[in-house]
Amino acid sequence: MISCKEYSAEYKKILKCLTSNTESPPTLAVIQVDDNPASTSYIKGKRKDCEEAGIGFIHQHVSSADTSQSQLELIVDGLNNDYRINGIIIQLPIPDKYDLKKLLRYISPEKDVDGFLPDSYFKQCTPKGIIDWMEANGQKFSGVDITVIGRSDIVGKPLVNMLIERGATVTCCNSKTQGIERYTRDSDIVISAVGKPKQWDSRYFSSKTKLIVDVGINRVDGKLCGDVDYDNVSENFPSIYITPVPSGVGLLTRLALLRNVYKAYSIQNTYKEN
Ligand code: NAP
Repeated sequence: MISCKEYSAEYKKILKCLTSNTESPPTLAVIQVDDNPASTSYIKGKRKDCEEAGIGFIHQHVSSADTSQSQLELIVDGLNNDYRINGIIIQLPIPDKYDLKKLLRYISPEKDVDGFLPDSYFKQCTPKGIIDWMEANGQKFSGVDITVIGRSDIVGKPLVNMLIERGATVTCCNSKTQGIERYTRDSDIVISAVGKPKQWDSRYFSSKTKLIVDVGINRVDGKLCGDVDYDNVSENFPSIYITPVPSGVGLLTRLALLRNVYKAYSIQNTYKEN
């Protein structure tokens, strides 16, 4: 398997090469409201990724104290109409005083690189990142049994759809599912997007399991860990490949965003030529 880290680093080099041949740099705009420390750290990571891939980065930082909903909508509209900006994201969470759904609808579908809108031109970054990485590893889907744990709108649900489209036989579990191990033990691949630290130990897997994709990001005693009890599972099933946390799906998500921005640039500039 190509690790998530290696794959992400290699693909960024490809993007750097592609963007060095564009007339102007493909550019991402990130809107941040207030100073949530986690958001600030994610934005720092996105800026660094963009630099590495030769993608321009615009950071619009506003304060909720002096920015109304309609002013925020105007900012989005300004970015929609700015031909130098190819992708727009609103860093979440934003304060409750805003109507987020309404705000997201202001983003033009051809610039919605997070893929949140139903008519977005782009796939959502986490599921896209996972599928791209699996395909880069030569993973086949037809006739493969996959269990996805979690059914959120940003990870579980879109992932299930993308796997079904590729011909996998997919089971989707949620917090009410009885006896999850019945499904996970009978799967070739298990993908967990639950957000509960070390929830799944070796009892949930079997010799049939080949791959576990751990989407969860949890913090225990200040340290990051996934949904899977990595040490326990790898000790009992050394042949199962488990994506690590950190340096796993998080990197794939970040890479998918860069790829979406490059795609946005390509689409928008093809239109211009026509
Ligand atoms: P979410 O909206 O809270 O959804 C969690 C899902 O897990 C729900 O569908 C829930 O079921 C299900 N669930 C909770 N406990 C369960 C259990 N014991 N057994 C089975 N299912 C259970 O979370 P999310 O936004 O999808 O994110 C999930 C995790 O992935 C979080 O840790 C998040 O930080 C992480 N994440 C990572 C990345 C990345 O790039 N690495 C990106 C996005 C999210 P119900 O629907 O029944 O409540």
